Amino acid sequence: MRSLHTRLPAHRARRAYAQDAPVWLFDLDNTLHDSSRSIFKVIDSKMTHAVAQCLGVEVDRANELRATYWKRYGATVIGLVKHHGVDADEFLRLSHDFDARPLVHSERGLARKFAQLPGRKVLLTNAPHDYARQVLHALNILPWFDMIWSIDHMQLQGRIRPKPSRALMRQVLARLGTPASQVILVEDTLKNLKSARQTGLRTVHVFHPGTPFSALHSGRDSYVNLRVNTLTQLLTGRRTLRR
Ligand SMILES: [Mg+2]
Repeated sequence: MRSLHTRLPAHRARRAYAQDAPVWLFDLDNTLHDSSRSIFKVIDSKMTHAVAQCLGVEVDRANELRATYWKRYGATVIGLVKHHGVDADEFLRLSHDFDARPLVHSERGLARKFAQLPGRKVLLTNAPHDYARQVLHALNILPWFDMIWSIDHMQLQGRIRPKPSRALMRQVLARLGTPASQVILVEDTLKNLKSARQTGLRTVHVFHPGTPFSALHSGRDSYVNLRVNTLTQLLTGRRTLRR
């Protein structure tokens, strides 16, 4: 089986943190920026063509397989590796092979607000590393992150384990060396927040109307500690997250 790197992401402390400082795990798409506005359309098309190219099938068949694997595994790449022996790195490269920077949209003043949020910041995204870096750079917040944990690093015992894998969450906690109660996942996807809460983390739901199934959940679920629409709301509401 061809698979992703087994290495863990580099961890570089950007600043000195107090022992009890919170650790913010930030999702990327539809959390830190509005990927529904233009980026998803590009990725959607690129991904179909990447499936078609990797498997040598027509576009219609590629779309069918994408839907099947996304539903079954939560990520197309897992099905491609498992059932077709596709090189995961190559697929992720093909599906994100574009310049994301001019397509990045976010709330106003994001970098300034980000600077006001105390604690360690880690990116936890099911997207590939190079794409994630590009977007953080365009948002002007890359220097704030101590670690970028992307799908390139989500392999456990020879299997790709993206969010919402609880095994992944436990691996992240072990790597951070921080008690779960001190770690907060900030995310638009509810099933990821649910598994984080089940692992003992605290959770912030960033509501985004473009997120699949988000419209079904207009209220606050029991596994969501705080629900926000913007980073401004996170800055004002974060005190309610105290242990
Ligand atoms: Mg997201």
